[in-house]
Amino acid sequence: MDAAEFRRRGREMVDFVADYLENIEQRPVYPDLEPGYLRSLIPTEAPLEPENYEDIIKDVERVIMPGVTHWHSPYFFAYFPAASSYPAMLADMLCGAIGCIGFSWAASPACTELETVMLDWLGKMLQLPEHFIAGTHGHGGGVIQGTASEATLMSLLAARCKAIRRVHASIPENSEADILSKLVAYTSEQAHSSVERAALIGGVMMRKVPTDNSYAVRGDMLKKIVEEDKAAGLIPFYIYVCYSCACIKTICHSSCNELYVCVFQFCATLGTTPSCAFDHITELGPLCNEENMWMHIDAAYAGSAFICPEFRPLLNGVEFADSFNFNPHKWLLVNFDCSAMWVKKRADIIGAFKMEPLYLKHENQESGRHWQIPLGRRFRSLKMWFVFRLYGLKGLQAHIRKQVDLAKEFESLVRADKRFEICAEVIMGLVCFRLKGSNELNQNLLKRITESREIHLVPCQLSGRFVLRFAICARSTESRHIQQAWRHITQLTFELLQEE
Ligand code: PLP
Repeated sequence: MDAAEFRRRGREMVDFVADYLENIEQRPVYPDLEPGYLRSLIPTEAPLEPENYEDIIKDVERVIMPGVTHWHSPYFFAYFPAASSYPAMLADMLCGAIGCIGFSWAASPACTELETVMLDWLGKMLQLPEHFIAGTHGHGGGVIQGTASEATLMSLLAARCKAIRRVHASIPENSEADILSKLVAYTSEQAHSSVERAALIGGVMMRKVPTDNSYAVRGDMLKKIVEEDKAAGLIPFYIYVCYSCACIKTICHSSCNELYVCVFQFCATLGTTPSCAFDHITELGPLCNEENMWMHIDAAYAGSAFICPEFRPLLNGVEFADSFNFNPHKWLLVNFDCSAMWVKKRADIIGAFKMEPLYLKHENQESGRHWQIPLGRRFRSLKMWFVFRLYGLKGLQAHIRKQVDLAKEFESLVRADKRFEICAEVIMGLVCFRLKGSNELNQNLLKRITESREIHLVPCQLSGRFVLRFAICARSTESRHIQQAWRHITQLTFELLQEE
């Protein structure tokens, strides 16, 4: 393909994309296929000779579209949103064209510098404390990660490294391996599975802290469990080896000075995945600071809403955190992938992972590669720059507010129908609801909804109950889609109850 053909095909592709998104609601939101459907539709080997572009485009409708779950359909209400906007798509095209691998300042100065400034812009939109803003005299700053899971993992690994160094400095007779085996991290029982997975990857124990009636962790709950663990040498349940008296699974006398357990990190969630609950970080933060525990805040979904002054109080307490992360690629109109992460002290994270082979060395070493696992970095900040400038803070706030209003509209419809109940406070764009009755009844309702393919929802479990989650996702969702979705749910409910 030469430049002249690229121009022509590019224009056609822009039309294709605009047509797809403008007419997306005509398509069934969820595919009707069996796993393995695609293999039989395409050859088993890559072509030897070049093919025609037209043939590929025809195959997009024949092979690809039938197998697409349409996340940007206004009838998609599953999971949490995947952000999408035209400015971000255009910026992604430019990112592809520049095609740099921005692992250092020298590898692409604009890529490195724009990212730092965009994270400052965004940090200021959120009114993050000064120490997170790189452009001030603080020691912190922000970086783009691919996902919230990566941000959680990086924070856990950095916290792990910091704790090992600290303990080793004070008790040098403990080897780093001994210390590692005694590290304990904490998170809410409602936290996303990626938090537990980070602990698995990091090879540390993770304890789940119970939540209150609103599915949030409170300070006293964390305090209790931390105190229990600090006394763990007296509790046989913990099988930490005491090296001086070699007691395993036994009660160790308190005169022993060996290290049993080292509490080192707490991952708080603002906007949990099941019900969008908010841990009480103003209570948890001081405790973490007192205990020398790294506090990471995962606000993957809800973080975007903190650009609105009415939601910002939910972020109060962030000043106690060592790191904070949310996904503009969920709710801030920046297409996947773009997960924003800030740390209070850059040195904590860079110090843990810095590698400087000669071929990467350059006078100006500040680069996001020290904050992540891969070396390569895409020019993702371009999408932020385009979106922030073309929407402005006011446009972004309007987007968040509109989606919260739509969630409230759905909540009122549910509340007005006595057969249903709301299962968690509706704070942002997620409504958790269920039919009053058994889990089985609700499972049957969801099965009918999924099989209808008119709307798409996923469930969650709250206090042992099977609950339906209705998340406002697509940018194109309007009140008429909410009304239609509710008519559809009540129709399926009517049929289900008739047959029961
Ligand atoms: N944390 C929370 C609270 C989430 O809701 C999610 C996904 O929905 C994640 C983490 C994982 O996000 P990612 O796919 O960016 O790793």
